[in-house]
Amino acid sequence: MTPAASVPFLDLITPHGELEDELIGVFRTALHTASFIGGPMVDEFEREFAAFCGARSCIGIGSGTDALRFALLGAGVQPGDTVLTVPNTFIATTEAISHVGALPDFIDVDERTATMDPDKLRAYLETQCASSPGITQPVSRRTGRPVTTIVPVHLYGQMADMDSILELAERFHLTVVEDACQAHGAEYFSRKHGTWRKAGTMGRAAAFSFYPGKNLGACGEAGAITTDDEALARYCRMMRDHGQSRKYVHEFVGANGRLDAIQAGILTVKLRHLARWNEERRERAHEYDALLRASDSGIIPPHVPSWSRHVYHLYVVRVAERDRVQRELAAAGIGTGIHYPVPLHLGPAYPGVPVGPGDFPVAERAASEILSLPMFPGLTRAQQRRVIDCLAAAVAVNTRVPQRSPAPAEAAA
Ligand SMILES: *Cc1c(COP(=O)(O)O)cnc(C)c1O
Repeated sequence: MTPAASVPFLDLITPHGELEDELIGVFRTALHTASFIGGPMVDEFEREFAAFCGARSCIGIGSGTDALRFALLGAGVQPGDTVLTVPNTFIATTEAISHVGALPDFIDVDERTATMDPDKLRAYLETQCASSPGITQPVSRRTGRPVTTIVPVHLYGQMADMDSILELAERFHLTVVEDACQAHGAEYFSRKHGTWRKAGTMGRAAAFSFYPGKNLGACGEAGAITTDDEALARYCRMMRDHGQSRKYVHEFVGANGRLDAIQAGILTVKLRHLARWNEERRERAHEYDALLRASDSGIIPPHVPSWSRHVYHLYVVRVAERDRVQRELAAAGIGTGIHYPVPLHLGPAYPGVPVGPGDFPVAERAASEILSLPMFPGLTRAQQRRVIDCLAAAVAVNTRVPQRSPAPAEAAA
């Protein structure tokens, strides 16, 4: 028997091969004009990405982590503030919070979408905070400090339940900054506005990452902030450039956090394909959904509420005995990932957070069951069939299937 073909988790070579001449053209333009920092390629990308999202401004930044850090500073986060996010995100989310001197605290996630659960956010604000004279925001009993900001994470390519989060933010005088680093082009049906809204347009500001593996990826490090807030945009433009309003006029202590011009040019070329790539990811996801249904294997596919248009940065299923299943898939030549194996409140980087095992049961249980399957534009149906065949075979020997607590009512009501 010939060994069956392996399936990579991600293919970053084919899409760049298809655009090779255009991408090399970007490098030539930079060489011929010596525009390496700032300049027309950065301006063009910022204009086009703002238009793609439907945001007034886009500010190119050197990474998604710095984009979030600068957006938090621009939104007025102060040292000692408590900033709420979720435990099941990439550590960059809380690094940005920590590096502005704020204290991250966590809200558990919805069982089905793994994004911030608005009911738990409400419970936190109503029962774990106190009002304090002279402070407009609620003061967290857990941190002893005022809660000023919420950072919902649009995880795996799907937006958090933003209407519900924004409603609570308004009621408690909080600012919302979106972590849209996995959600380029994802959409949310806002009942409040009666329209679909793209990631990056619902909070006071949003951070995007163009790390190579993201739905829109650079050929190196890159990120961006989107916002409708002109003052915030102006602040972030200065922040990324040593606090400069003009050359050598430093209004405050800024940073070197600019988007590289060559990366901006590359991103402009690739942005023209993003809508099609996202559509292809959706088709691949629907194929996986159908294959999983047909396999009758008890594997839980991603849940997409009626208010969500998912862009499947990752296709994440839930499966019992995940580590063994993942090893068996690896042995069969199938690449998978775990996003993320350790909830942030349990990791060594946050020894001081006043929470521990058991405090966020939904995120903690998910961490042991989630498995990200191969997902990229260009993935073939034959490859997908092989992934699900191998997955179903590995799961067939499971003695238990993942238990899901009763599904929370879909927030469409
Ligand atoms: C990728 C990512 C980031 C950080 O982006 P970088 O560009 O790698 O700095 C932040 N948050 C989330 C959720 C991410 O997936």
